[in-house]
Amino acid sequence: LRRNPGEHEFHQAVEEVLTTLGPVVKRHPHYLAERVIERLCEPERQIIFRVPWTDDAGQVQINRGFRVEYSSVLGPFKGGLRFHPSVMLGTVKFLGFEQIFKNALTGLPIGGGKGGSDFDPKGRSDAEVMRFCQSFMTELYRHLGEYTDVPAGDIGVGGREIGYLFGQYKRITNRYEAGVLTGKGLAWGGSRARKEATGYGAVYFANEMARHAGLTLEGRDVVVSGSGNVAIYAIEKVTELGGRVVACSDSSGYVVDEGGIDLDLVKDIKEVRRERIGQYAKERRGGSARFVERGSIWDVPCEIALPCATQNELDEDAAHTLVGHGVDIVAEGANMPCTPGALRVFKEAGVLFGPGKAVNAGGVATSALEMQQNASRDSWTFDYTDNRLAAIMHNIHERVVTTAEDYGRPGDYVFGANASGFTAVADAMLAMGVI
Ligand code: NDP
Repeated sequence: LRRNPGEHEFHQAVEEVLTTLGPVVKRHPHYLAERVIERLCEPERQIIFRVPWTDDAGQVQINRGFRVEYSSVLGPFKGGLRFHPSVMLGTVKFLGFEQIFKNALTGLPIGGGKGGSDFDPKGRSDAEVMRFCQSFMTELYRHLGEYTDVPAGDIGVGGREIGYLFGQYKRITNRYEAGVLTGKGLAWGGSRARKEATGYGAVYFANEMARHAGLTLEGRDVVVSGSGNVAIYAIEKVTELGGRVVACSDSSGYVVDEGGIDLDLVKDIKEVRRERIGQYAKERRGGSARFVERGSIWDVPCEIALPCATQNELDEDAAHTLVGHGVDIVAEGANMPCTPGALRVFKEAGVLFGPGKAVNAGGVATSALEMQQNASRDSWTFDYTDNRLAAIMHNIHERVVTTAEDYGRPGDYVFGANASGFTAVADAMLAMGVI
């Protein structure tokens, strides 16, 4: 705490992991003797830089850029970039810390990192976003490389931003190094199913949880928070598997639709027009939807909850409300969306709870598949990539469940994910000496 003042989200993420590791270090005391945990609390490298750019009015704007290269024992640093006004060092460190264990769970050769800026793309023109991205990459490029550090998207960074970032990287380095960024467009090195991967993967994982407990997603009412990249494709997969998504949201409020969310309309509003979710209720045919400004989406009755927006969006009160409605599965599509208080409520109520580092690992896993395609100058079909994603999510589920059982804690997905991810990283660190 003294070493990282004011980094509340980072403290929260570290505490969440460390408080579960007791049984692991008891079984492997050399992790303590070799001070693996202390080493993991310190990122390998942290880069903070100025991002000056000019807006459409000719005014100079200044933002702050970050890249936390957290751990590279399992592979090059890998993790997304977030553009949101709330981004500060503690945000990037929390996300980078989570990313190490998530990436380890995929079983693919990727280390953990995260980055971003306090730049807000909302309301900015394409030209402004491009100038910002070019300035951001003009500093960041020297730290990247397909064997060093490979960023992707996150909140506020989608295909448009990755395009501008990749264009500037290519221009500065004079190299078509496709494997340096993931989430690229299909015509220039992107992978089919990457856009869908985090949302689809989250639902594959929730489906595995349900199956394992003798439940199903079919015919169940589901609430998905957010209406960005993860939420949209989670809604798509839930619907495909026979569930009914009754509500989604953005930071302005939420929409409830008794007829089930019309995903084409959400995509048009969010992906094409970049408008607010309130527009959905105005345009929904048949008038089955209503918009609730500001309120909590977790007030909407459901049986399965998929928080897919942002950190700490589901607190203790919301968790009590969900339990009161009889929710039996909560799976985190977003990173750390549930507060520690909410986790306690779910645990006490016996709700099946899937933590983000397992549930949303399909995004980064498919990014690693994009890197494989780039390295072999290949391009796979949608079905092939999607099948690999489903298999990876199945394997992560198996790994988490087996680890929890091995430690005598069946059904504890939080413990299973933390213990399994940590052990993989710690063993690699020990094998490489004091690094
Ligand atoms: P997007 O920017 O595409 O969408 C984010 C969504 O969450 C938007 O609907 C946004 O609404 C909403 N949101 C953001 N902040 C808030 C807030 N404070 N309160 C309420 N709603 C909010 O991001 P992604 O879908 O890519 O990311 C969502 C989550 O998933 C994040 O936690 C991210 O770290 C995690 N994740 C993403 C991966 C990916 O592949 N994209 C991979 C793994 C995890 P608004 O537009 O109003 O801001």
